[in-house]
This record gives sequence, structure tokens and C-alpha cells, in this order.
Amino acid sequence: MFEKLKINPQIEEILQKAIKTGISKEEAVELMETRGKELKALIIAADMLREDLVGEEVTYIQNWNINFTNICTGNCGFCAFRKDAYDEGAYFLGIDEIIKRTKKAKQDGAVEVCIQGGLHPNIDAYFYEDILRSIKAEISDIHIHAFSPMEIFYGASKSDLSVKETLKMLKDAGLDSMPGTAAEILNDDVRSIICPGKLSTAQWIDVIETAHKIGVPTTCTMMYGHVENVKHRIDHLEILRNIQKRTSRFTEFVPLTFMHLNAPIYQKGISNPGTTGAEDLKVYAVSRLMFRDLIKNIQVSWVKLGLKFAQICLMAGANDLGGTLGEENISRAAGAVHGNYISPSKLERMIRNLGRIPAKRDTLYRHL
Ligand code: SF4
Repeated sequence: MFEKLKINPQIEEILQKAIKTGISKEEAVELMETRGKELKALIIAADMLREDLVGEEVTYIQNWNINFTNICTGNCGFCAFRKDAYDEGAYFLGIDEIIKRTKKAKQDGAVEVCIQGGLHPNIDAYFYEDILRSIKAEISDIHIHAFSPMEIFYGASKSDLSVKETLKMLKDAGLDSMPGTAAEILNDDVRSIICPGKLSTAQWIDVIETAHKIGVPTTCTMMYGHVENVKHRIDHLEILRNIQKRTSRFTEFVPLTFMHLNAPIYQKGISNPGTTGAEDLKVYAVSRLMFRDLIKNIQVSWVKLGLKFAQICLMAGANDLGGTLGEENISRAAGAVHGNYISPSKLERMIRNLGRIPAKRDTLYRHL
């Protein structure tokens, strides 16, 4: 298949195996180190597998982000979004404002609101419950995708509830699905550098698997390009692959390239200045080869990559272009300059121009 490229025979063998049956963690590490012709072959292999397993459609969703507060007791070294309560620019949206924005989102065509916020000192799981019940009471037909595993963990501990009790309560109140954020890199040594106050790897897995078990699907993510090495990335993907084998409740995988510009760990000289484009392409390609159709949907984040490069990453194994995003504050605070709203027609233009088929979806990847 790759004869004309004349690539290293060992990489060729791994790629042949990847297409036919799948790859081990060790093989994935080797692929993550490819350059030149081998990198080109890796991208071709991931794109071929994507075409075989999920076809030519590129999905996207009309959604709206609501980041209800940036006041946070956390200390994540990559975060340029958080503020202390008395900092300039600190804000907290009350429930009325959240409802107002949800109504606006709905009017604008959104089928999902994604609600996340900082770890505000005065909130607990009952505040999350209030948000959900209040939205569902007024706008019953919008999908609420809300609260990261860290927020669930924090809300549970502030309310003297277990993670399971918290999740059950929130599901009853209207939580339809959760973002699998706060994963960063699932390795406790890396976490002790970039997010020492955040939940551990085992705790993240516990929140996610508990959500899956009670019937709340989640996405999964990986934020890469800061202090981790290639092996950490693959260990992270392997953790996600194993969770999915047990629960089948991940709807999609979203690689999140590190936005370094305003991140404290970069400003202090602790982290790398993000990734290069080749590294991003390798993450997309290797994740497709590792996940195959176990995690069927791999999303490119146009907010972080920029629309043009996001389009290119769709040629390296990905099949989803994310959301229209009415407002987005977290990446923007981190230095992303690619805007915070995009119309469906612009996303569709990017997809068609690539020779692929646009398809509007809901949060659970049902066609609309
Ligand atoms: S990433 Fe989230 S938890 Fe961490 S400091 Fe920022 S807002 Fe707080």
C-alpha cells in the first residue's frame, strides 16, 4: 500500500496492522515519533481508516457555550481564564442570566448548551441542580451538556455527597451529557506540574465511569503540548480506550492543543510553547488508529486550531468539526484568536471544499 513512498519497513508493518486490526500502545508511541515520508504514510493510513469506518460525512453541531463564572479557587497552571473574586474582569452569571442566554441560543438554532464554569467558592452541587431544573422548566427541549468531572467532584465535596449521589441528582434535574474536560493528561506526575489542585487520574476515571454507569454519556478530551512527552499522550489514549471498552459511553474524542500564550506555566518558562502543526496531525492520526470505531467520532477544535488548519486535520482521521459556539471564553482567555462564533454555512463550506459531506448532528451524533 505504501510501496511508492518507500518508508521504513517497520513503520509500514505497523500501519498495515493498524488498518487491518489495530495497534498496541507501544506501536502507537512509534507512530507518534514519525517524520517525513513515514509521517505522510501515517496520515494517509488514518484517513483511509476513517473513510472505511465512518465514511465521508463530517458532522457539526449548532451549540452555545455558557461559562457561568470565571471566579475559581483552582490553580491550574495552563489556565488564563480563572480570576479571584475581586480581580478586574471577574464575573458570575446568575440563573436568570443563564436562562436568558439559553433562550437566545435556542432562538439562534442551538440544540445544545454547554455549561461550565470556575470552581466558585460559594457554589455546590445544589447550585448545579438549580441551573438544570431552572433551564428545563423554561426550555425543556434543549440538550444540556454540562459540568466537567472536576466540577462534579468539587460540587460533590462541597455538598457532602458522593460523586454517584451528585450525578444521580443532576441527571434527575436534567443533565443530559457531560464534557470530558479536566482530563488534561491523565498522568499524576504531569498533573502535579500543570494542575496540582485538580482531581487525580483515578478520580477523573471514577467520575466518568460513574456517569456512564448511571446513563450520562460524556465526551473525552486530551490537552497536549505543555510538559508531557509522547509516551504520556499514548498512555492517556490507552486509558480512554480501556474506559470505552468497559462502558461504550464516550460520544467523541476531542484533542485540545495547548494554548500557551497567556498560560502561567508558559510565562514562567515551565512549559513548551504549544505544539507544531505536524504534532497536531500526529495526534489526530494516531488517535484514529488507536480508537478505530470504538470511539467513532474524533473532533477538531476550530477555536484552537483555526478554521483552515482544522480543515486540514479532518484529513488526518477526524470526522467532526465541533460546534458553532455562540460564545467561548476559555480558549479566548488563553490566547486563541480564531473567534467565538461561526455560522453553519461557513462550517459547511470548509467541509464541502474538502470533498466531504456536511451533516448537522445533535450531541449524541444523531442526524438532524
Ligand atoms: S482550568 Fe478550571 S479549575 Fe483550573 S483554574 Fe481554570 S477555571 Fe479553575
